[in-house]
Amino acid sequence: MQMRLPYSVPLFDLPMYSVSKLTDYSAALAAAAEECIRACEAEARSVSDETELKLFRDRWLGRKSGILTQINELWLKDAPKDAKREVGIRVNELKARIQKLVEGTRAGGTDGRATTVAGVDITLPGIRRSIGAEHPVLKTMNEIVSVFQKLGYSVAKGPVVETDYYNFEALNFPPNHPARDTQDTLFIAGQAAKPPRERLLLRTHTSPVQIRTMEKMRPPIRIVIPGQVHRNDPPDASHSPMFHQVEGLAVDTDITFSDLKGTLDHAMKALFGSSVKTHFRPSFFPFTEPSAEMFVSCFICGGSGKRGAEPCRPCKQTGWIEILGCGMVDPNVFDFVKDNGYDPRRVSGFAFGMGADRIALLKYGVDDIQLFFQGDVRFLQQFA
Ligand SMILES: [Zn+2]
Repeated sequence: MQMRLPYSVPLFDLPMYSVSKLTDYSAALAAAAEECIRACEAEARSVSDETELKLFRDRWLGRKSGILTQINELWLKDAPKDAKREVGIRVNELKARIQKLVEGTRAGGTDGRATTVAGVDITLPGIRRSIGAEHPVLKTMNEIVSVFQKLGYSVAKGPVVETDYYNFEALNFPPNHPARDTQDTLFIAGQAAKPPRERLLLRTHTSPVQIRTMEKMRPPIRIVIPGQVHRNDPPDASHSPMFHQVEGLAVDTDITFSDLKGTLDHAMKALFGSSVKTHFRPSFFPFTEPSAEMFVSCFICGGSGKRGAEPCRPCKQTGWIEILGCGMVDPNVFDFVKDNGYDPRRVSGFAFGMGADRIALLKYGVDDIQLFFQGDVRFLQQFA
């Protein structure tokens, strides 16, 4: 019985294509695939209006009984076990070609015939794609980085998967420091056979890049290090197992704590407005000595601790927000790179690090860090 084609007259000249059963899964498969493509091209050329275009698309791409579906049933599913992988690859190639061909076909031009089968019709208006926007966390990181770039710092980056040596040992963490525990750090599995300092982990801070850079570059250096870090923290409104830091390091022969204070005070004014004040409190980090936590006067309530009659939540009514950790580089850290010119008796330096996500939360008044990483376009669009 002659089947009726759903297309216009010229198509009646074409034999109706139907998926054939394969006799073997190599030569016959290749020939059948070629035949299939040729049939599809021929049909595409004869599509002359929107109705036919729809029928053509359904015939080839229809989910239930489209030709691609039939190919799946007849060729792939029936293939013997040992040929399945090879057939799968062939069928996928064929499907991709057919799909491109069908989706690239447009209904008739002025002569009432299909204007293209190759996928490009230059007479059609283009497909409008939204440009997208910087993610609020990346935007914040870029802003911080650019403040330091203007001071002459260059950007340094390093691997997210680190060794114990760079993440802990060379940064003066003692062997049994709690940060080295699996409760705090995410370790890569299957490392037990390696010596402890070579074992891999997800870096818990961007500080390993300080060591890596000092190994490569002799002093003086001024670097700013943006990057992703991981800690074994269950996700909640203020914690995420993955977050971002921006860290900085300056080393020269004559760096003092005054340089640290002046640099960071300038940076905070550049980031949060010229009226913010900074305030340092003593703290402890294994890789700096002395160490400090730096606070800025609350840029939300202006330091009053109140927003009208309401208490200011971001600064917990104190008027100060803790923004970063910093300190003078511990001479023990320089010892690990002293062969490259970092003799602790000759050079000194300061380092600082801040959480970019936390700053983004404060800056944009977001109250849940999870919102940054859930990929909800409705949330992210607000920052575009
Ligand atoms: Zn406040």
